[in-house]
Amino acid sequence: MARIISVANQKGGVGKTTTTVNLGASLAYNGKKVLLIDTDAQGNATSGIGVKKSEVKKDIYDVLVNEYPIANVIKPTSREGLDIVPATIQLAGAEIELTPMMARESRLKSAIDEIKDQYDYILIDCPPSLGHLTINAFTASDSILIPVQCEYYALEGLSQLLNTVRLVQKHFNPELQIEGVLLTMFDARTNLGAEVVEEVRKYFRERVYDTIIPRNVRLSEAPSHGMAIIDYDPRSRGAEVYLALAKEVLMNE
Ligand code: ADP
Ligand code: MG
Repeated sequence: MARIISVANQKGGVGKTTTTVNLGASLAYNGKKVLLIDTDAQGNATSGIGVKKSEVKKDIYDVLVNEYPIANVIKPTSREGLDIVPATIQLAGAEIELTPMMARESRLKSAIDEIKDQYDYILIDCPPSLGHLTINAFTASDSILIPVQCEYYALEGLSQLLNTVRLVQKHFNPELQIEGVLLTMFDARTNLGAEVVEEVRKYFRERVYDTIIPRNVRLSEAPSHGMAIIDYDPRSRGAEVYLALAKEVLMNE
């Protein structure tokens, strides 16, 4: 049975999609069967792993809003063991369309239940908001991985995020846990980076991964080639750190 992890932070640009794609590929590299689910209308995980959005006929929108079978939407990727449920811009309408719907919080969970015995890990790339799509992701998940960018105000907004976690625990998913907090885009050349690391570790303690993701230009180039970093540049620092993160996640099993 798959372990289902939401990668979430309502701030944009903190490394959610980069982490979903590269952690997923690194887990697959370790022999795990992995499914990525893109729940952001930007579809960055979808294109970043090499699926052309123009060729996607049905996507996560059809699953959530029209109850289209998720198994029919899954696409393989060029990385062995790694599949994806794509998202396209039509998902932008889902926040509003879900509002009056029956069981609107548990639609993703119901869909995932149909296929979760086929995977070891299911990683959900969340949108930069705490709306219905993120609530669906949290309701469907065993745990949440929170990327935190090493910058000023790194902790800002996290109390809102943790509040949403508590609400979902209370109403929809009492088993929901924090998988871990991941420091991203660390820049060793500034003092700020080190200060943020200390601040985040003080707040989240042992829940912060030992692995810290540095700024690495190869990580930002890989998506435009439709590849995870381990395939785009396996010798890069970016590949090394996401493999290290996968090791930590595997140890949490
Ligand atoms: P989010 O999904 O939270 O919005 P992304 O993963 O899309 O964030 O990252 C935002 C931007 O920063 C993207 O252009 C991405 O390629 C880049 N990026 C993410 N992580 C790194 C990193 N460690 N080093 C360099 N660039 C990064
Ligand atoms: Mg994203």
